Amino acid sequence: MGKWVEGRVIARHHWTAELFSLRVDAPVETYQAGQFTRLALDIDGERVARPYSYVNAPHERPLEFYFITVPDGPLTSRMVELDEGDRIWVQSRAAGLFTLEWLPDGEDLWLLSTGTALGVFLAILKTEEPWNRYRRVVLVHGVRTGAELTYRDTIAELQDRHGEQFRTVSLVSREDHSGALRGRITHAIEDGRLEQAAGLQLGPETSQVMLCGNPDMVSDTTALLEARGMKRNRRKEPGHITTEKYWG
Ligand code: FAD
Repeated sequence: MGKWVEGRVIARHHWTAELFSLRVDAPVETYQAGQFTRLALDIDGERVARPYSYVNAPHERPLEFYFITVPDGPLTSRMVELDEGDRIWVQSRAAGLFTLEWLPDGEDLWLLSTGTALGVFLAILKTEEPWNRYRRVVLVHGVRTGAELTYRDTIAELQDRHGEQFRTVSLVSREDHSGALRGRITHAIEDGRLEQAAGLQLGPETSQVMLCGNPDMVSDTTALLEARGMKRNRRKEPGHITTEKYWG
């Protein structure tokens, strides 16, 4: 990856006690929506770095990142304390193949996320490519509580812009929440509620699926999709399933 460049925090926004976003000004290189960079802080004389997906589309500034504070997490427990004007290191060159460039065409594009992985899909949805290439685009966001259904204004703007082409399905696992399905993404695929809510079938004939976030969701959902005859997307052998895990 590229060199470290010095960034400055422009704003910090708290969504819940654990979820926050940072807006950062830093001279990074051009990247593709869906890619991640690395952020770092110098803590006790050591540079502590972790990968983070860009939430802003490549044409948008400032840079934006979406985090959960992990209890005792070496980096997030410090990043949550950053204030406007504070320094943060940003790797200038982004990385990752979780982009539409590597996705085969298909009728419908399904974007399945848990928690903070919503952000990577917002970057993709704020570009023109998904809307030019797919008949329908479905954004699925699974969280634990209703308060964790964040970035509602951004999603509402996308809905206004793209109307019927854009479908969203929210799932809340630990409580009932108006407008959201109750439970996990895997269960809603198994019992048909996800397809019913999206008004679309999920299968090898029509769907390209990108999955991002919790490694259990990614693995378990991949297994369910494979049981429907869908295959992992590989460079030499195009399939239907493209994944990125945030840990594990
Ligand atoms: P660590 O000691 O590194 O804690 C790791 C543990 O925290 C994991 O084992 C897991 O149990 C938990 N954890 C890590 N990330 C998450 C998460 N996102 N949600 C719930 N639990 C988590 N994290 C983000 O918050 N936003 C992002 O945009 C993001 N993008 C990533 C992109 C890639 C390609 C990868 C591989 C990871 C990404 N992560 C993202 C995770 C991130 O790199 C760190 O692991 C996380 O911020 C915790 O760092 P830490 O030093 O505080 O704790």
